[in-house]
Amino acid sequence: MSFRATVLTLYPDMFPGHLGHSLAGRALERGDVSIEAVNIRDFATDRHRSVDDTPAGGGAGMVIRPDVLATAIDAVSPRDDSRPRLLMSPRGRPLTQARVRELAEGPGAVIVCGRFEGVDQRVIEARDLEEVSIGDYVLSGGEPAALTLLDAVIRVLPGVMGNAQSGTQESFETGQLEHPHYTRPQVFEDREIPAVLTSGNHKAIEAWREAESLRLTRARRPDLLEPDETP
Ligand code: SAM
Repeated sequence: MSFRATVLTLYPDMFPGHLGHSLAGRALERGDVSIEAVNIRDFATDRHRSVDDTPAGGGAGMVIRPDVLATAIDAVSPRDDSRPRLLMSPRGRPLTQARVRELAEGPGAVIVCGRFEGVDQRVIEARDLEEVSIGDYVLSGGEPAALTLLDAVIRVLPGVMGNAQSGTQESFETGQLEHPHYTRPQVFEDREIPAVLTSGNHKAIEAWREAESLRLTRARRPDLLEPDETP
């Protein structure tokens, strides 16, 4: 079963962007994933092909019209489409690795990219859009956020990552940040690889990695730890 993404955007040329390369690029070539970018402007009805208008109540910027966006959503996602409809939005629930895994297990997603001040609230409610944020900062448009979400989803699809284990041991998958990594040369600018990692003692290596993972999580992301594990 392939993962089918339809992205509604004012900048369809931004897709597949970096996802045309490397692991995701190969998944696209194999047909394990499809990304269709559809221009919201194609659903405008006036002769200027306008998609936005001034905010009700006044204020800066423009707002994407609900009627144009709803027509676009209905055209790409008929009522029997079981794919979730996402709206990239800084007001949304923060994207987590758990939600990424859930999305990857489903048939795909319809992803709306906002621009300007965002989209009219009524279309969010009328089309049951799930608002998703990629972090506490404001981008100029939803496209880089959609590419980020798709990147995270595609890499966990079955068969996309070469070594299946390399997905499950990573940051957030274990509930903690991952331990540091080292490779050759043995000495780099007077810094050595920690001796335990070259000892061949697999139990000691595992224990070191777990301790480092916990140390980093406590220092940088104590919010990820259970209350009894916090400092
Ligand atoms: N006025 C909005 C606010 O203050 O919440 C910001 C609008 S932003 C300039 C334009 C579009 O970029 C948004 O509609 C959304 O699609 C996208 N965007 C910006 N930051 C984002 C984030 N952190 N996560 C997801 N999408 C984001």
